[in-house]
Amino acid sequence: MFDNLTQRLSGVIKTLRGEARLTESNMQEALREVRMALLEADVALPVIKEFIERVKQKAIGREVMSSLSPGQALVGVVHEELIAIMGGERAEINLSTAPPAIILMAGLQGAGKTTSSGKLAKWLIDNKKKKVLLVSCDIYRPAAIEQLKLLAGQVGADFFPVQAGQRPAEISAAALDYSRKHHHDVMIVDTAGRLGIDEVMMKEISELESLLKPIETLFVVDAMQGQDAVNTAKAFADALPLTGVILTKLDGDARGGAALSVRHVTGKPIKFAGVAEKLTGLEPFYPDRMASRILGMGDVLGLIEEAQRSADQKEAEQLMKKMKSGKGFDLDDFKMQFQQMKKMGGMSAMLEKLPHQLTQAAQNMKVDDKVISRTEGIINAMTQQERAKPEIIKASRKRRIAAGSGVSVQEVNRLLAQFEQARKMMKMVNKGGGLAKMMRAVK
Ligand code: GDP
Repeated sequence: MFDNLTQRLSGVIKTLRGEARLTESNMQEALREVRMALLEADVALPVIKEFIERVKQKAIGREVMSSLSPGQALVGVVHEELIAIMGGERAEINLSTAPPAIILMAGLQGAGKTTSSGKLAKWLIDNKKKKVLLVSCDIYRPAAIEQLKLLAGQVGADFFPVQAGQRPAEISAAALDYSRKHHHDVMIVDTAGRLGIDEVMMKEISELESLLKPIETLFVVDAMQGQDAVNTAKAFADALPLTGVILTKLDGDARGGAALSVRHVTGKPIKFAGVAEKLTGLEPFYPDRMASRILGMGDVLGLIEEAQRSADQKEAEQLMKKMKSGKGFDLDDFKMQFQQMKKMGGMSAMLEKLPHQLTQAAQNMKVDDKVISRTEGIINAMTQQERAKPEIIKASRKRRIAAGSGVSVQEVNRLLAQFEQARKMMKMVNKGGGLAKMMRAVK
């Protein structure tokens, strides 16, 4: 699944080798690669266009962590945008209505409607402890009705027996009565498909939709059909108030175009994905997991995450060591500490976890992002010796530092006082179990 796309996107990293940061011009080749990768994956053109534009806007000028190459950083942005294009958050199945919650299944013949009805029943029984009724309105194919009956038996759902000669509207009305009487939580209605978009079929399913007023109308579509799948989905979405999509046969879809386009083109979220023929082969669809899979979590993304983690950890460990000993805590560490705080969700997140007596001291430091950059600026204007031994900073040095960082001498004084306060805080925290403990708590 997605093999080629994964390979292509991993190649993007190489195109930016040797560059220090991401700019419009050096990204050009890399973005061309991304574009090619998406074209080959059979992603719809308008989706590709918007995707590339968004990646470009987001990536230009983005600060690249020292342990990551710009190529890796760009792949990070691609990852974020892949998630966004597939809908961002996972879209849960909605059952919040008076029982039975009706789920209407729509789609072309062979898409996997009947199989997915059975799989969905199983998923609801196993994961949501629901009592499920399966109903077939496919009166044109007696074999399809038999297939659903068989599936119902296999997954432990009830099956609504159809009388010979009943029309779809009659079947569904009778089934609704039946399910109310038998207290089903969910009623899944399988419908007739055609080989292509067909007016009679559309009319029939529209009628069923207005009669049953389902809480979910799911469009079942075969991922292996690529852009055709997306076009069909669009036609259905225009004709029916769809609430979501089930993307089947993802296990056989080597390219991945449908998974990437369908949400964007129809505006409807993918709620489930069929990943195997067997009855357990239906999974809730998670855009973030799918994006990770496409990029090959094992190599590319793993690397990015690792770089992020080790950069953070290394800094934190060094800092911790100094704080623990209480010795050697200097202004460079003070600066790093501010940056760490920012990464951990800011001062307010830390304040909540601090022992009560420290809260006041910390609040006096009034840390926000502006203060952090001013603090960094002042410390940057100091010499190495001054940062290591702040005691030597007397009046003339203060004047020089103030001028060098564009602040007043009072501000330099304030920073030095804060540093002293932090040093004291460190000692208190160390007595009460150590900063390591505190930092773990706020993570
Ligand atoms: P319907 O005409 O839409 O009801 O389609 P069916 O449910 O009869 O499915 C058509 C074929 O696709 C059957 O052979 C199913 O076993 C197969 N199928 C459905 N979903 C999946 C899936 O997620 N993965 C695989 N590999 N096969 C599937």
